[in-house]
Formats: sequence, C-alpha cells, structure tokens
Amino acid sequence: MDSFSRSTEQVSSPSDLGALSRLTVDLGAIRANYQRLSESLGDVPAGAVVKANAYGLGVERIAPTLWDAGCRFFFTATLPEAIQVRALLPKAGISVLNGLVSGCEPLFAEHGIAPALGSLEQIADWKAHCGRVGKSLPALLHVDTGMSRTGLDAGEWQAVLDTPQLLDGVDWLYLMSHLSCSDEPENPENRRQLEAFQAIRQTCPTQMKYSLANSAACLFDSSYHFDIARPGIGIYGGNPRADRPNPHACPIRLEGRVLQTRTIAADTPVSYGATWRAKRETRVATLGAGYADGYLRSLSDRGRVAFGDRVCPIIGRVTMDTIMADVTDLPPDLTRPGAFAELLGPTITPDDAAAAGGTISYELLTSLGARYARRYIDTGSPTA
Ligand SMILES: *Cc1c(COP(=O)(O)O)cnc(C)c1O
Repeated sequence: MDSFSRSTEQVSSPSDLGALSRLTVDLGAIRANYQRLSESLGDVPAGAVVKANAYGLGVERIAPTLWDAGCRFFFTATLPEAIQVRALLPKAGISVLNGLVSGCEPLFAEHGIAPALGSLEQIADWKAHCGRVGKSLPALLHVDTGMSRTGLDAGEWQAVLDTPQLLDGVDWLYLMSHLSCSDEPENPENRRQLEAFQAIRQTCPTQMKYSLANSAACLFDSSYHFDIARPGIGIYGGNPRADRPNPHACPIRLEGRVLQTRTIAADTPVSYGATWRAKRETRVATLGAGYADGYLRSLSDRGRVAFGDRVCPIIGRVTMDTIMADVTDLPPDLTRPGAFAELLGPTITPDDAAAAGGTISYELLTSLGARYARRYIDTGSPTA
C-alpha cells in the first residue's frame, strides 16, 4: 500500500462534486523530503524555495507544512508571492530571489521581506530607502557566477570592491549565487562557479553569510553548502540528478476519471488529427483531464497512465479536456467509467512524464491546473 492509500485527511468541497480530475498532495511526503534534504546538509540549515505557488503544489498548505518541519527561511521569485508567504508565516525569514522593483521598497520593508539585490541600481535604491527610514533593512546580495540572468556581474562586483561604501547602511543577510549545471554533477562548470563564489567571498568587504546550493547541490560535498541552502524541486519530489535513483518521495498524485470506454475495430483512428490508428481491436478509455489542466500536449501518443500498478499507453492527441488510453490489456473492471487513472504520481513519476514530453519536472509541476479537485492528505511522517 502506498502513502496515498493511508491518508488521514480527506477534504473535498461541494464544488469538487463531479470534478473529472483530482490532485492529491501528501504533506507528510513534503515534510519527509525536507528532512531528507536537511540531513544531507548536516548542520547547515535548509531554507525552502516556494516560488510559483510552491512549484504548483499550493503555497498555502506547503509553506506552513515546511515551517512545522523546521524551515525558517523561505524564498520566492516575486514580491506578491512573498507577501502571501508573510501572511501565512508571520515569523519566517523571506527573500525575493528576482530582486527589487524600483518603487516597491516600502512594501518590502512593511512586510519584512528581504530583496535579493542583483544590480548596483537595486543596491542604491534599497540603500536610499534605508536612509529615508533611518534603519538598516535586511537584504541579500546576489552575484552572478555563470547564469547571466540576475545578480551583479564581474564589473559591478569590481565596483563594490573599489567602493565598499556602496554596501553601507544595509543589513546584509546572505551573499548568494546560483549554479547553472547542478543537475549534471560532473559538469566542470559546477566547480568553476564554486571557485568564483569562494573568490568573491574572500574579497567581500562586508561581514555576511553565504548561500549557493539548490536541491541538487544539497547532495554535493559540503564545500557547496555554506550557511543556508535553497532547495526547491527536491522538496516537491523531483529527482535533482538524473544519474541516480530519486532520493525523494513523490508527494502528488494527479488522477483523471474514466468518462467512457469503447471498443474500436482495427484501423480505427483516435483523437484529433487521427495520428493514432488501432492495430488490433482496442478498448479505449477516455479520461477527464487535458492540456487545459496543464497536462502536456506533447505527451500525445507518448505518455502513459496507470490503473493501480497497471500501466497503459496514451493513444492519440491529448485534447483540451480529455486523454485517451489503450486499456485493452487491463481487466475491464479496473477501467470502468468512474474509475480513476493516475496521470502523475508514484507510478507515473513527474520526472518520467516530463522526459517523455520533452521537458523537466519543474515545468510539469508548475503547469498543474486549477480545474482539479485538490485535496491535501497527511500520511503523518514525523515532524522535525
Ligand atoms: C529556483 C531557484 C532555486 C531552487 O532550485 P531547485 O533546483 O528547484 O532546488 C534556488 N535558487 C534560485 C536562485 C532559484 O531561482
């Protein structure tokens, strides 16, 4: 019996009646994944990245669950996301990874949110606000060591070294950078970025703490761990590195209801474009979820679904609201109308489905739709 069958909490609202698909999130598995990441870090604390609605799983339930598991620092991508976390967790440390939008300084300050400042301009804006309110307010300093995305570039860092006063008057929590290739542990870019980060750390004119590791780097040697880690995908069950078995539990199960079944003769086409034709007499089950629910259209003719532990192929194109599966080889009782098939979960893992659809689990999870009946269960793994 898997964790989803041992649920201790089943919430469904009246609006879920008649829903054709449902998403179950196991908060116990979230806690267990967070604890597993924490263990790999030894004494270094694990923060949690909860951007994009906690990678699609629902920040309102995920953030308090992580707090209960011992997490005290949360990272979002945007200020509105951070304000949402603040409302849930009055005492948490919260930082916005994508930096400061000029003019929003008072909002950051009002909600006690630390921007990760990624350019000299952002530093100047924050400094100016600190001056106006007469208080050193918390911020992170973000340096770019290889993403060319956000963070101070080499020239800007040199400007900081030349004029250390640029950093005065701010309560610096962490100096951070982000790895570009941590999903490939052997990629030399990891070590190069680590060395660049260490060099920055050694010359940093101001006393602060340091942060480099995402989920994958939590599993690297401790030289990557510094003072706080920023795992995201591992908490949500994704495998941070493809070359090893996944150390994390899958906390979600997405299911589609069988709407109808039918038996079609050989050479009968299925779905739009008639891309799939039966090679034999085939029993087709139509499931109530589609690309409007975030289920990838690129899984047309390639994805798989599961009834219990019986796996069967998706046939024809994924449509807006439905998926067809070839259930010929399964007992009819298992696939009767009203039964649920697993589209993503412990059997059809987000990593496998993403690979089949030509993407990564991050995109699959953050695409999860709003039309499912969502329920949260707690299999009761121990808290920290
Ligand atoms: C998204 C993000 C993370 C989390 O990365 P995972 O691979 O999901 O663990 C950490 N740091 C930064 C800067 C990010 O943008």
